[in-house]
Amino acid sequence: MHSTKTAIAGTRDGIPVVAEADVVVVGGGPGGFAAALRARRDGCSVILIEKFDMPGGVHTSGLQGAANTGVGGIHTELMERFAQENCIYIADETVLPDWAGNPLSHYDYYLPPGSPFRRASFNPESAGNVMVRMLEEAGVHTFYGANFVDVRLESQGEEQRISQVIIDTVEGLQAISGRIFIEGTGTAELVARSGAPFVRGGGRQPETIETDPVNRPIPGGLLWIMSGIDFAATAAYQRRENDPSLSKLINAARAAGDIPPDLYRPRLAAQGVYGDHYIGHPTVDMSPIQGPGTFILWQNVPYEWALHMDDDAAHASRAKRELRRLIDAESRFLVKYVPGFEDAFITHVGRYVGVRDGRHPIGEYVFSIDDARQQRRFPDAVTRPMTKTFFWDAYTRYTFEVPYRCFLPKGVCNMLLTGASLSFTFETIFMVMRNFPWCTQTGEIAGHAAARAIREGITPREVVWREPLF
Ligand SMILES: Cc1cc2nc3c(=O)[nH]c(=O)nc-3n(C[C@H](O)[C@H](O)[C@H](O)COP(=O)(O)OP(=O)(O)OC[C@H]3O[C@@H](n4cnc5c(N)ncnc54)[C@H](O)[C@@H]3O)c2cc1C
Repeated sequence: MHSTKTAIAGTRDGIPVVAEADVVVVGGGPGGFAAALRARRDGCSVILIEKFDMPGGVHTSGLQGAANTGVGGIHTELMERFAQENCIYIADETVLPDWAGNPLSHYDYYLPPGSPFRRASFNPESAGNVMVRMLEEAGVHTFYGANFVDVRLESQGEEQRISQVIIDTVEGLQAISGRIFIEGTGTAELVARSGAPFVRGGGRQPETIETDPVNRPIPGGLLWIMSGIDFAATAAYQRRENDPSLSKLINAARAAGDIPPDLYRPRLAAQGVYGDHYIGHPTVDMSPIQGPGTFILWQNVPYEWALHMDDDAAHASRAKRELRRLIDAESRFLVKYVPGFEDAFITHVGRYVGVRDGRHPIGEYVFSIDDARQQRRFPDAVTRPMTKTFFWDAYTRYTFEVPYRCFLPKGVCNMLLTGASLSFTFETIFMVMRNFPWCTQTGEIAGHAAARAIREGITPREVVWREPLF
């Protein structure tokens, strides 16, 4: 017999309230996952809302399974769990002697040819299973296949507070109540729906945006996996024909009409706000993953299209459609033309096109490139000083701290930010402060702050942060 869940607190606009918790996390990427786990372990009731079927975001649903050395806390725990549960695959020079220094290698192209290397990746599907279990073990109440679509706000003094989020499920729209809400969508969707301020991706902060007409986001990407590749045969071809970038094969296929013009495009150095660091595809871009003969491949949105996939539905749809088309063309080219790929086949295409440069929320503090250059320290630092390489500044390494205020959006008093949606300027996010380990740490910081606020009966803004968590 069919039964309908009883609404726990009545309905408004016909939308039933189906659950409530101390902390509601919207989006289960590295940021949202760690926030949910930490808040739960710190004693809160926690709901996590995720539109796909597992947490992990870009790194599981998006297939980006690069495994890093643990940086402490939940990130280290994750890497250890992945290793214990046989999710990690390590390729090195013994299995891929022609990999280091190969122009086709996404990560290891710059190494001296033939040198030792170690490329660790986790299997996105089995890693996602582990993450599902970790949330269950902790007692986080998860809603998968639930798309966050809106918020309900109440006034609190000059500010707003979120009382409920609305999700779209197989039962239609439902509401979830909470005391503190955590932004984990990777594109600051919770911020945008709440009316909190943000800067659109693809440009500078408000003071310079008028003089920066380019407004091109860093291209998003759809990752995909191919198995059955004999890379030794590919490398033998590269050597034999002196064709390290496969340009002879690409030119032949293009001349035969087998490659569309927008596949294997030249890089557009210095033609946009991201200068030389444009992500392009002059040739095949791949990395070993999951096991022998299996590689992940990158298909990025052409920079020239300037797609804002996070806030423009037509752009988002075009990205999905066109990147599928490019993956289809690329896979057919590889199998038909490239030695070593004759028996290769597609095993996965990412569940979504990852957004590298979504909205940048404006928080109580906006971390800028100057903070890194001045190597600033803050009384409310969330970690001990971190040292990172800034590609913008000729690969200079800066040591700096990040203040807790970057986690507090302006205008909404009961929300915390995480991951790629922190209050950072675009130069500090791209290629520096949006990696998996850091995003996981940000989630843990937000989850801990939320639990402190719940325990002390205050808002996240009133939490006095004096001790780094990492
Ligand atoms: C193509 C690409 C390649 C990258 N390569 C690397 C790399 O090699 N190494 C590295 O360290 N980092 C890499 N990054 C960066 C890194 O993956 C991201 O910065 C990081 O995943 C951001 O974490 P997050 O938790 O903020 O968001 P995400 O990982 O984007 O997770 C957001 C989660 O929220 C969910 N969600 C979104 N909207 C809704 C909604 N409305 N309702 C319900 N759920 C929702 C999504 O399904 C997803 O699970 C890459 C990013 C991209 C896009």
